[in-house]
Amino acid sequence: MEKVIIVGTGCAGLTAAIYAARASFSPLLLEGREPGGQLSTTTLVENFPGFVDGIDGPMLIMNMKSQAERFGARFQYSTVTAFEPKGDHVSLQLDGAEWIDTRTLIVASGASARWLGIERERELVGHGLTSCATCDGAFYRNVPVAVVGGGDSACEEASFLTRFASKVYLIHRRDKLRASKIMAERALGNPKIEPVWNSAVREFLRDGDGEVRGVTVEALESGQMREVELKCVFVAIGHVPNTAPFKGKLNMDEEGYLVQMNGTHTNVPGVFAAGDVADKTYKQAVTAAGQGCAAALDAERYLANFE
Ligand code: NAP
Repeated sequence: MEKVIIVGTGCAGLTAAIYAARASFSPLLLEGREPGGQLSTTTLVENFPGFVDGIDGPMLIMNMKSQAERFGARFQYSTVTAFEPKGDHVSLQLDGAEWIDTRTLIVASGASARWLGIERERELVGHGLTSCATCDGAFYRNVPVAVVGGGDSACEEASFLTRFASKVYLIHRRDKLRASKIMAERALGNPKIEPVWNSAVREFLRDGDGEVRGVTVEALESGQMREVELKCVFVAIGHVPNTAPFKGKLNMDEEGYLVQMNGTHTNVPGVFAAGDVADKTYKQAVTAAGQGCAAALDAERYLANFE
Protein backbone atom coordinates (compact mmCIF):
# COMPACT_ATOMS: atom_id res chain seq x y z
CA MET A 1 0.00 0.00 0.00
CA GLU A 2 1.43 3.38 -1.07
CA LYS A 3 0.90 6.32 1.28
CA VAL A 4 0.73 9.07 -1.37
CA ILE A 5 0.28 8.70 -5.11
CA ILE A 6 0.30 11.84 -7.22
CA VAL A 7 -1.16 11.72 -10.71
CA GLY A 8 0.50 14.31 -12.94
CA THR A 9 3.93 15.91 -13.06
CA GLY A 10 3.07 19.51 -13.90
CA CYS A 11 3.48 22.38 -11.50
CA ALA A 12 0.73 21.16 -9.15
CA GLY A 13 1.89 17.54 -8.98
CA LEU A 14 5.55 18.41 -8.54
CA THR A 15 4.88 20.94 -5.80
CA ALA A 16 2.70 18.39 -4.02
CA ALA A 17 5.60 15.95 -4.40
CA ILE A 18 8.12 18.36 -2.86
CA TYR A 19 5.89 18.82 0.19
CA ALA A 20 4.89 15.16 0.56
CA ALA A 21 8.47 13.98 0.07
CA ARG A 22 9.82 16.48 2.56
CA ALA A 23 7.26 15.14 5.04
CA SER A 24 8.89 11.69 4.51
CA PHE A 25 5.98 10.07 2.63
CA SER A 26 8.12 9.08 -0.33
CA PRO A 27 5.30 9.85 -2.82
CA LEU A 28 4.97 7.96 -6.08
CA LEU A 29 4.33 10.24 -9.09
CA LEU A 30 2.66 8.89 -12.18
CA GLU A 31 3.77 10.64 -15.36
CA GLY A 32 1.21 10.30 -18.09
CA ARG A 33 1.10 11.30 -21.74
CA GLU A 34 2.19 14.92 -21.11
CA PRO A 35 5.04 14.69 -18.58
CA GLY A 36 5.80 18.06 -17.06
CA GLY A 37 2.39 19.43 -18.01
CA GLN A 38 1.69 22.60 -19.92
CA LEU A 39 4.82 24.42 -18.69
CA SER A 40 6.99 21.94 -20.49
CA THR A 41 5.50 23.12 -23.79
CA THR A 42 6.19 26.82 -23.25
CA THR A 43 9.39 28.77 -23.63
CA LEU A 44 10.31 31.59 -21.26
CA VAL A 45 8.16 31.90 -18.12
CA GLU A 46 8.37 35.48 -16.93
CA ASN A 47 5.67 35.54 -14.27
CA PHE A 48 6.73 32.77 -11.90
CA PRO A 49 7.89 34.60 -8.76
CA GLY A 50 11.56 34.44 -7.89
CA PHE A 51 13.08 34.53 -11.37
CA VAL A 52 14.03 38.12 -12.17
CA ASP A 53 14.87 37.39 -15.82
CA GLY A 54 12.30 34.62 -16.23
CA ILE A 55 13.02 30.92 -16.50
CA ASP A 56 12.59 28.44 -19.30
CA GLY A 57 9.34 26.45 -18.73
CA PRO A 58 10.95 23.01 -19.17
CA MET A 59 13.87 24.09 -16.93
CA LEU A 60 11.46 25.18 -14.20
CA ILE A 61 9.77 21.78 -14.37
CA MET A 62 13.09 19.91 -14.35
CA ASN A 63 14.20 21.89 -11.31
CA MET A 64 10.98 21.05 -9.47
CA LYS A 65 11.40 17.39 -10.34
CA SER A 66 15.00 17.33 -9.07
CA GLN A 67 13.89 19.12 -5.92
CA ALA A 68 11.18 16.49 -5.30
CA GLU A 69 13.63 13.64 -6.03
CA ARG A 70 16.14 15.08 -3.58
CA PHE A 71 13.61 14.47 -0.79
CA GLY A 72 12.69 10.98 -1.95
CA ALA A 73 9.87 11.34 -4.50
CA ARG A 74 9.65 8.43 -6.97
CA PHE A 75 8.55 8.69 -10.61
CA GLN A 76 6.96 6.14 -12.89
CA TYR A 77 5.70 6.47 -16.48
CA SER A 78 2.12 5.22 -16.23
CA THR A 79 -1.30 6.40 -17.26
CA VAL A 80 -4.22 5.89 -14.90
CA THR A 81 -6.97 4.03 -16.74
CA ALA A 82 -9.40 3.27 -13.90
CA PHE A 83 -10.07 4.27 -10.31
CA GLU A 84 -11.95 2.57 -7.46
CA PRO A 85 -12.59 4.04 -3.98
CA LYS A 86 -12.25 1.28 -1.36
CA GLY A 87 -13.25 2.99 1.89
CA ASP A 88 -9.95 3.47 3.70
CA HIS A 89 -7.86 3.52 0.50
CA VAL A 90 -8.24 3.78 -3.27
CA SER A 91 -7.13 1.52 -6.12
CA LEU A 92 -5.78 2.74 -9.44
CA GLN A 93 -5.42 0.75 -12.61
CA LEU A 94 -2.29 1.61 -14.58
CA ASP A 95 -2.09 1.35 -18.38
CA GLY A 96 -5.12 -0.92 -18.46
CA ALA A 97 -3.25 -3.63 -16.58
CA GLU A 98 -2.02 -3.84 -12.96
CA TRP A 99 -3.85 -2.29 -9.99
CA ILE A 100 -2.08 -0.35 -7.27
CA ASP A 101 -3.43 0.69 -3.84
CA THR A 102 -2.80 3.94 -2.05
CA ARG A 103 -3.99 5.51 1.19
CA THR A 104 -4.11 8.99 -0.39
CA LEU A 105 -4.28 10.19 -3.95
CA ILE A 106 -3.54 13.67 -5.27
CA VAL A 107 -5.08 14.19 -8.70
CA ALA A 108 -3.01 16.81 -10.49
CA SER A 109 -3.53 15.56 -14.01
CA GLY A 110 -4.11 19.03 -15.42
CA ALA A 111 -6.07 20.13 -18.44
CA SER A 112 -4.91 19.86 -21.99
CA ALA A 113 -5.41 22.71 -24.42
CA ARG A 114 -7.81 21.89 -27.19
CA TRP A 115 -6.04 22.32 -30.55
CA LEU A 116 -7.40 22.93 -34.02
CA GLY A 117 -6.63 19.50 -35.43
CA ILE A 118 -4.52 20.76 -38.33
CA GLU A 119 -1.86 18.38 -39.59
CA ARG A 120 1.56 18.69 -37.86
CA GLU A 121 0.09 21.42 -35.63
CA ARG A 122 1.83 20.20 -32.48
CA GLU A 123 5.29 20.70 -34.04
CA LEU A 124 4.63 24.44 -34.18
CA VAL A 125 3.86 24.87 -30.50
CA GLY A 126 6.48 27.34 -29.26
CA HIS A 127 7.27 28.44 -32.83
CA GLY A 128 4.42 30.83 -33.45
CA LEU A 129 1.63 28.64 -32.11
CA THR A 130 0.58 28.68 -28.49
CA SER A 131 -2.43 28.31 -26.24
CA CYS A 132 -1.31 30.81 -23.61
CA ALA A 133 -1.36 34.57 -24.21
CA THR A 134 -0.24 35.29 -20.66
CA CYS A 135 2.86 33.14 -21.22
CA ASP A 136 3.82 34.13 -24.74
CA GLY A 137 2.09 37.43 -25.62
CA ALA A 138 5.04 39.63 -24.65
CA PHE A 139 7.25 37.91 -27.24
CA TYR A 140 5.15 39.32 -30.09
CA ARG A 141 5.60 43.07 -29.90
CA ASN A 142 4.59 45.32 -32.79
CA VAL A 143 3.66 42.42 -35.07
CA PRO A 144 0.25 41.06 -36.13
CA VAL A 145 -1.07 37.98 -34.31
CA ALA A 146 -4.34 36.03 -34.26
CA VAL A 147 -6.51 34.50 -31.59
CA VAL A 148 -8.77 31.60 -32.59
CA GLY A 149 -12.01 31.14 -30.65
CA GLY A 150 -15.09 33.04 -29.64
CA GLY A 151 -15.38 32.44 -25.90
CA ASP A 152 -14.29 34.41 -22.84
CA SER A 153 -10.74 33.07 -23.13
CA ALA A 154 -10.43 34.21 -26.74
CA CYS A 155 -11.77 37.68 -25.92
CA GLU A 156 -9.63 38.01 -22.82
CA GLU A 157 -6.51 36.88 -24.67
CA ALA A 158 -7.21 39.14 -27.65
CA SER A 159 -7.66 42.15 -25.38
CA PHE A 160 -4.50 41.27 -23.45
CA LEU A 161 -2.49 40.86 -26.65
CA THR A 162 -3.31 44.39 -27.81
CA ARG A 163 -0.75 45.55 -25.24
CA PHE A 164 1.98 44.07 -27.40
CA ALA A 165 0.84 43.23 -30.91
CA SER A 166 0.32 45.76 -33.71
CA LYS A 167 -2.94 44.04 -34.62
CA VAL A 168 -4.95 41.09 -33.30
CA TYR A 169 -7.16 39.09 -35.66
CA LEU A 170 -9.95 37.35 -33.75
CA ILE A 171 -10.79 34.37 -35.92
CA HIS A 172 -14.11 32.72 -35.03
CA ARG A 173 -16.06 29.99 -36.76
CA ARG A 174 -19.42 31.74 -36.32
CA ASP A 175 -20.69 35.33 -36.66
CA LYS A 176 -21.43 35.69 -32.97
CA LEU A 177 -19.16 35.40 -29.96
CA ARG A 178 -19.94 32.94 -27.20
CA ALA A 179 -18.18 35.18 -24.69
CA SER A 180 -20.03 37.12 -21.98
CA LYS A 181 -21.37 40.50 -23.09
CA ILE A 182 -18.80 42.52 -21.19
CA MET A 183 -15.83 40.55 -22.50
CA ALA A 184 -17.17 40.56 -26.05
CA GLU A 185 -17.83 44.31 -25.99
CA ARG A 186 -14.40 45.00 -24.59
CA ALA A 187 -12.75 42.98 -27.35
CA LEU A 188 -14.86 44.22 -30.23
CA GLY A 189 -14.53 47.83 -29.03
CA ASN A 190 -10.74 47.67 -29.17
CA PRO A 191 -9.47 49.29 -32.39
CA LYS A 192 -6.49 46.91 -32.53
CA ILE A 193 -8.77 43.84 -32.70
CA GLU A 194 -10.15 42.84 -36.10
CA PRO A 195 -12.79 40.11 -35.97
CA VAL A 196 -12.69 37.55 -38.76
CA TRP A 197 -16.17 36.02 -38.68
CA ASN A 198 -17.37 32.67 -40.03
CA SER A 199 -13.81 31.60 -40.61
CA ALA A 200 -11.48 28.75 -39.83
CA VAL A 201 -7.70 28.43 -39.90
CA ARG A 202 -6.86 25.68 -42.36
CA GLU A 203 -3.07 25.83 -42.67
CA PHE A 204 -0.03 27.31 -40.97
CA LEU A 205 2.54 29.00 -43.23
CA ARG A 206 6.16 28.79 -42.07
CA ASP A 207 9.24 30.89 -42.75
CA GLY A 208 12.72 29.49 -43.46
CA ASP A 209 13.39 29.03 -39.72
CA GLY A 210 10.23 26.98 -39.26
CA GLU A 211 8.42 29.82 -37.44
CA VAL A 212 4.84 30.76 -38.28
CA ARG A 213 4.69 33.60 -40.81
CA GLY A 214 0.98 33.41 -41.59
CA VAL A 215 -2.11 31.27 -41.90
CA THR A 216 -4.53 30.25 -44.59
CA VAL A 217 -8.05 31.11 -43.50
CA GLU A 218 -11.22 29.71 -45.03
CA ALA A 219 -14.36 31.85 -45.16
CA LEU A 220 -16.84 29.15 -44.22
CA GLU A 221 -19.84 30.57 -46.11
CA SER A 222 -18.10 30.95 -49.48
CA GLY A 223 -15.32 28.40 -49.07
CA GLN A 224 -12.88 31.08 -50.21
CA MET A 225 -9.30 30.79 -48.93
CA ARG A 226 -7.00 33.70 -48.17
CA GLU A 227 -3.59 34.12 -46.62
CA VAL A 228 -3.17 36.30 -43.56
CA GLU A 229 0.33 37.40 -42.56
CA LEU A 230 1.01 37.19 -38.83
CA LYS A 231 3.65 36.00 -36.39
CA CYS A 232 1.73 33.97 -33.85
CA VAL A 233 -1.57 32.14 -33.47
CA PHE A 234 -3.08 31.90 -29.99
CA VAL A 235 -5.52 29.02 -29.89
CA ALA A 236 -8.25 29.67 -27.29
CA ILE A 237 -10.89 27.09 -28.08
CA GLY A 238 -11.10 25.68 -24.58
CA HIS A 239 -9.33 23.15 -22.39
CA VAL A 240 -10.20 19.60 -21.63
CA PRO A 241 -9.54 18.50 -18.02
CA ASN A 242 -7.83 15.13 -17.80
CA THR A 243 -10.41 13.42 -15.63
CA ALA A 244 -11.70 10.56 -17.77
CA PRO A 245 -10.64 7.70 -15.42
CA PHE A 246 -12.44 9.36 -12.50
CA LYS A 247 -15.84 9.87 -14.20
CA GLY A 248 -18.76 8.73 -12.09
CA LYS A 249 -16.51 8.37 -8.99
CA LEU A 250 -15.21 11.89 -8.28
CA ASN A 251 -17.57 14.86 -8.39
CA MET A 252 -17.07 16.98 -11.50
CA ASP A 253 -18.77 20.01 -12.99
CA GLU A 254 -20.52 19.84 -16.34
CA GLU A 255 -17.22 20.42 -18.18
CA GLY A 256 -15.43 17.61 -16.34
CA TYR A 257 -13.37 19.72 -13.90
CA LEU A 258 -12.99 18.13 -10.45
CA VAL A 259 -14.98 19.81 -7.69
CA GLN A 260 -12.98 20.70 -4.56
CA MET A 261 -14.54 21.01 -1.13
CA ASN A 262 -12.96 22.38 2.01
CA GLY A 263 -9.58 23.15 0.43
CA THR A 264 -8.44 20.46 -1.98
CA HIS A 265 -10.66 17.58 -0.76
CA THR A 266 -12.82 15.76 -3.29
CA ASN A 267 -15.98 13.81 -2.44
CA VAL A 268 -13.88 10.65 -1.83
CA PRO A 269 -12.00 10.63 1.49
CA GLY A 270 -8.23 10.55 0.94
CA VAL A 271 -8.48 11.89 -2.62
CA PHE A 272 -7.40 15.47 -3.27
CA ALA A 273 -7.41 17.62 -6.40
CA ALA A 274 -4.87 20.29 -7.32
CA GLY A 275 -4.14 22.58 -10.24
CA ASP A 276 -5.78 22.90 -13.63
CA VAL A 277 -7.72 19.65 -13.26
CA ALA A 278 -9.88 21.57 -10.80
CA ASP A 279 -9.30 25.17 -11.90
CA LYS A 280 -10.83 26.78 -14.94
CA THR A 281 -10.47 30.31 -13.65
CA TYR A 282 -6.81 31.14 -12.95
CA LYS A 283 -4.88 28.42 -14.76
CA GLN A 284 -1.48 29.81 -13.82
CA ALA A 285 1.70 27.93 -12.91
CA VAL A 286 1.91 29.67 -9.57
CA THR A 287 -1.73 28.99 -8.64
CA ALA A 288 -1.26 25.33 -9.59
CA ALA A 289 1.87 25.17 -7.44
CA GLY A 290 -0.06 26.72 -4.53
CA GLN A 291 -2.79 24.11 -4.86
CA GLY A 292 -0.22 21.32 -5.05
CA CYS A 293 1.21 22.50 -1.74
CA ALA A 294 -2.29 22.65 -0.21
CA ALA A 295 -3.17 19.15 -1.45
CA ALA A 296 0.00 17.68 0.08
CA LEU A 297 -0.77 19.34 3.41
CA ASP A 298 -4.37 18.06 3.26
CA ALA A 299 -3.10 14.54 2.47
CA GLU A 300 -0.61 14.73 5.34
CA ARG A 301 -3.41 15.65 7.77
CA TYR A 302 -5.57 12.83 6.43
CA LEU A 303 -2.74 10.31 6.83
CA ALA A 304 -2.37 11.31 10.48
CA ASN A 305 -5.72 9.48 11.06
CA PHE A 306 -3.99 6.19 10.26
CA GLU A 307 -0.94 6.53 12.50
P1 NAP B 1 -15.47 28.14 -24.35
O1 NAP B 1 -16.39 29.09 -23.65
O2 NAP B 1 -15.84 26.72 -24.43
O3 NAP B 1 -15.28 28.72 -25.82
C1 NAP B 1 -14.59 28.00 -26.75
C2 NAP B 1 -14.67 28.75 -28.07
O4 NAP B 1 -13.89 28.05 -29.02
C3 NAP B 1 -16.10 28.85 -28.63
O5 NAP B 1 -16.30 30.12 -29.18
C4 NAP B 1 -16.12 27.76 -29.69
O6 NAP B 1 -16.91 28.09 -30.82
C5 NAP B 1 -14.68 27.73 -30.15
N1 NAP B 1 -14.29 26.41 -30.61
C6 NAP B 1 -14.41 25.23 -29.95
N2 NAP B 1 -13.88 24.23 -30.68
C7 NAP B 1 -13.42 24.81 -31.81
C8 NAP B 1 -12.75 24.31 -32.96
N3 NAP B 1 -12.46 23.01 -33.09
N4 NAP B 1 -12.43 25.18 -33.94
C9 NAP B 1 -12.70 26.49 -33.82
N5 NAP B 1 -13.32 27.03 -32.76
C10 NAP B 1 -13.68 26.19 -31.78
O7 NAP B 1 -13.99 28.15 -23.72
P2 NAP B 1 -13.20 29.32 -22.98
O8 NAP B 1 -13.34 30.59 -23.68
O9 NAP B 1 -11.84 28.78 -22.71
O10 NAP B 1 -13.97 29.43 -21.59
C11 NAP B 1 -14.08 28.30 -20.73
C12 NAP B 1 -14.80 28.71 -19.45
O11 NAP B 1 -14.00 29.60 -18.69
C13 NAP B 1 -16.11 29.46 -19.74
O12 NAP B 1 -17.03 29.10 -18.76
C14 NAP B 1 -15.72 30.90 -19.59
O13 NAP B 1 -16.80 31.75 -19.25
C15 NAP B 1 -14.68 30.84 -18.50
N6 NAP B 1 -13.72 31.93 -18.62
C16 NAP B 1 -13.99 33.06 -17.91
C17 NAP B 1 -13.14 34.14 -18.01
C18 NAP B 1 -13.42 35.37 -17.22
O14 NAP B 1 -14.55 35.55 -16.81
N7 NAP B 1 -12.44 36.22 -16.98
C19 NAP B 1 -12.01 34.08 -18.81
C20 NAP B 1 -11.77 32.92 -19.54
C21 NAP B 1 -12.65 31.86 -19.43
P3 NAP B 1 -18.51 28.16 -30.71
O15 NAP B 1 -18.81 29.44 -30.01
O16 NAP B 1 -18.94 28.13 -32.14
O17 NAP B 1 -18.94 26.95 -29.95
